[in-house]
Amino acid sequence: MHKQTLAELSRALSSGAISSVALTEHFLARIQKYDPLLNSLITTTAEQALSQAKMADERRKQGKATALTGIPIVHKDLFCTQGVRTSCASKMLDNFISPYESTVTQKLADAGMVMLGKTNMDEFAMGSTSETSFYGPTKNPWDLEHVPGGSSGGSAAAVAARLAPIATGSDTGGSIRQPASLCGITGLKPTYGRISRFGMIAFASSLDQGGPMAQTAEDAALLLEGMAGFDPKDSTSADLPVPRYSDTLNHDLKGLRIGLPREFFAEGLDAGVASLIQAAVKELEKLGASVKEVTLPSTSLAVPAYYVIAPAEASSNLSRFDGVRFGYRCAQPKDLEDLYKRSRGEGFGAEVKRRIMIGTYALSAGYYDAYYLQAQKVRRLIRQDYDNAFHEVDVLIGPTTPSTGFRLGESARDPLAMYLSDIYTIGVNLAGLPAMSLPAGFINGLPVGLQLIGPHFSEAKLLNIGHQYQTVTDWHRQQPAQFA
Ligand code: GLN
Repeated sequence: MHKQTLAELSRALSSGAISSVALTEHFLARIQKYDPLLNSLITTTAEQALSQAKMADERRKQGKATALTGIPIVHKDLFCTQGVRTSCASKMLDNFISPYESTVTQKLADAGMVMLGKTNMDEFAMGSTSETSFYGPTKNPWDLEHVPGGSSGGSAAAVAARLAPIATGSDTGGSIRQPASLCGITGLKPTYGRISRFGMIAFASSLDQGGPMAQTAEDAALLLEGMAGFDPKDSTSADLPVPRYSDTLNHDLKGLRIGLPREFFAEGLDAGVASLIQAAVKELEKLGASVKEVTLPSTSLAVPAYYVIAPAEASSNLSRFDGVRFGYRCAQPKDLEDLYKRSRGEGFGAEVKRRIMIGTYALSAGYYDAYYLQAQKVRRLIRQDYDNAFHEVDVLIGPTTPSTGFRLGESARDPLAMYLSDIYTIGVNLAGLPAMSLPAGFINGLPVGLQLIGPHFSEAKLLNIGHQYQTVTDWHRQQPAQFA
């Protein structure tokens, strides 16, 4: 059963070939057997899953099932889930049982999905390797010595190893696309505002966006239909109808104009990755697309601007963790100041503290204009670059990451190298655009991802291109041998 996509499982459920209870038991058994190798889950919710599965089977009997009803899923552990620990992979929230449910998880539960558990991640989604988790690193199912990427590394590893058919993730600077690329799965970061952020623990609110992490573009389309939509509880949520993404996957690609950003194929890109991306572009040309080079001149400014804006927002968002209302509290504080200092000092890990310090500095009087304001101006330039490119072409294509990623432990020695590895993904968040990563081949047994970037609210087009690409390739069908 685990070899099947969500779409295939959904058909098997509707034909009566399997039940949701059997499916759920199968995946729970896989989690029990394989997760000790991967550490992709922080919490497993077996009991709750089985009772949701029973309800889903019941609902199907009553003729009220949708494509998602009865399908198991794992959620990144920054989506608040009522009555279930929501830790953000931090000691700060190790004891936090959420009193309310995020909009995303609520919508998927309402559709009848079955939550198997909560996935490991970088602490507060800060990182690119899933190594900053309080619960220890997640391993890459393709090579246990490698990181799965991050911050949604647990979700990516769980789907790649088929411990769940599908997962949710979140992307502030690449955290859906980069782990999808490194684990050989399909990940979509929607347009900013497409999916509600209510109940998704905030890292950098003007950049954060939830999205699907799936085996295929078709599965991502089905999950996006369940996740997306206007939410009055999120003031930045877009009040637009949700298209039926799964209905437009089969449009042909004749006349599609693809742009290759010159800056994405410049110095720093691994030669093996470059040739796999070129091969993927050839496939799309065969399907009727035309290709031209375009330029995004501000590309080199994206990482520096992000590392002012994201920490600035994080320093403000994370001020709520003060040891008073919820989360970790130090033992026997002497006074209020000692309570704040020690609770935060002991509750947060090193990377989170680094970001809070950078952000607080960038926002402080005297430096605000020089750093924060300047970074906001750069953000505008980056957005203009993309707008200009989309006057010439329909979508942009390039690599998701410059290489196949780090060995475990490698990035801790050089955080700057880790920051720079997000060079192709971060500009997309600054511009608020949708983008997806698709499996496009392997180098030394490690997956490589192709990135598609489109104009605002072009998810249907990206998913259509992704699906067409996946009808002529089978990279997305490969599974790590150890988890077959
Ligand atoms: N790697 C980037 C960071 O550490 C992006 C993380 C994310 O998208 N959540 O900030």
